[in-house]
Amino acid sequence: MKYIYTIIAISLFSTMLTGQQLYNCATPPVKSDWLKRYQQNPDNYARGGDTTLYVPVTIHLVGTDEGGGHYRVPDMLDDFCQLNEDFALSNIQFFIEGEINVINNSSWYSHDSIYIGYEMMTTMNVPNTINCYYVSVAAGSGGYNLPSADGIALRHGNMGPGSHTWAHEIGHNLSVQHTFLGWEGNIYNPGQPAPTEVYYNYTLFKPVFNPDTIIIDTAEVELVARTNCTIAADGFCDTTPDYLSGGFACNSSGESALEQIDPDGDTFNSDGKNFMSYANDVCNQYFTPEQTGAMRANLLNEKPGHLYNQDPVRDPITMAPEGLSPIQGEPSDLNSTALIWSAVSGATAYHYEVNRLPNFNPTFSIAEGITSDTTFSITAGSLLEGLTYYWRVKPYNPGYTCTTVSAGESFVATDLINIEDPEGIGHLQVYPNILSAGQSANLYLETAQTEALNIYLFNVSGQPLQDIYQGISTGLFSTEISTAGLSSGMYIIGIEVSGLWTYRKLLVL
Ligand SMILES: [Zn+2]
Repeated sequence: MKYIYTIIAISLFSTMLTGQQLYNCATPPVKSDWLKRYQQNPDNYARGGDTTLYVPVTIHLVGTDEGGGHYRVPDMLDDFCQLNEDFALSNIQFFIEGEINVINNSSWYSHDSIYIGYEMMTTMNVPNTINCYYVSVAAGSGGYNLPSADGIALRHGNMGPGSHTWAHEIGHNLSVQHTFLGWEGNIYNPGQPAPTEVYYNYTLFKPVFNPDTIIIDTAEVELVARTNCTIAADGFCDTTPDYLSGGFACNSSGESALEQIDPDGDTFNSDGKNFMSYANDVCNQYFTPEQTGAMRANLLNEKPGHLYNQDPVRDPITMAPEGLSPIQGEPSDLNSTALIWSAVSGATAYHYEVNRLPNFNPTFSIAEGITSDTTFSITAGSLLEGLTYYWRVKPYNPGYTCTTVSAGESFVATDLINIEDPEGIGHLQVYPNILSAGQSANLYLETAQTEALNIYLFNVSGQPLQDIYQGISTGLFSTEISTAGLSSGMYIIGIEVSGLWTYRKLLVL
């Protein structure tokens, strides 16, 4: 073995960052002792055949002290969907354990040093799960897996549609290293045969020399001939040689455009389809069977505590939420608006959000949260009279997040109690407006000329209960409002005359 390890300490990991390329992975490029043992005799380890292994993940969304900046929950759910798709061929599937942990801590949210990441993880980790932290700045990297703290940091800017960063970091968490292991921090000299060894001195990246954190690593350079594939680079023989530690674009075959030359003079192109390469996300497609075997053995052998629930809720959810109310700019009570939707088959939780803008810009968020219920009441005082608000809801369950968010619906916050009647309507009366159950009320009004007239009955949350009248008024108008079937409580009659609304209260005893 050509690997020489000395002392590895946490402080080492922080040091690589200033020298590391921005947005690459800052996972310490060191094989774990477990992986080294495993690779000496993989067949001694159970890998669970084709059985799907279900693995709990704790999601931590880190924001600022003021409570801003958190990664959006619906976007995270979409990322989680991609993660499970990326691991489908490996028969490893993840589920969200417990509540999504929303953290307000500016120092963790934007951390320049893995020291801080270490503090965050060791403070917040939930045992026997893979702990993943969404942060704004991840120690100068796009993400990292920190073995000493057993946690993963994910930089906001590296996540989102098409990103495979999460799969890459969980690959590390389950023991797998870069396909170009040993080349981190080294640059391949194009057109030249690679040296037989790459030498990697982490201490070069340290701002202050500290003998406790010295690590010197010499890695054998992997040959095209596969004669040293069990000990060179990542130690897997079904991952091809790869000397590209600086990121690369791939061609239509998913390979690096750059041809490399191994120490024997044989040429090759890096396989950008591998999640553990530094190819652009668009190239990434798979883990190889040997990588998969190591990850599965790592779970079964080193992390059996993670496998406590092999039947998590994971029913596919195929429907977008329906039955939303209020919709399409309906008036809804300023002080008592309840959002309502129909239960979605398979869903155990819903993320809802209310926003001032139809694009749900987080800066203009009014309310958001997660509920297992199919309704949410907006806190009184959150809405301003006459403004339009937008809302939507995304269903999911712990093991299935590939779901569709509802179409953005809207309502107008309206003071349903104190309102002046619009011009063009006069002599509006509801009598009686305090009724016994089953009694009918009479509604009278007068329009100045022929007007379109619509009358609805709402509950106090603004949900329409009855269409009372749709038609025209040519002057004097009257109708009867039945309270049959209404439970006792306050109701609102909404009257729309040529697009202008007015309201009357109705109390059923
Ligand atoms: Zn990495």
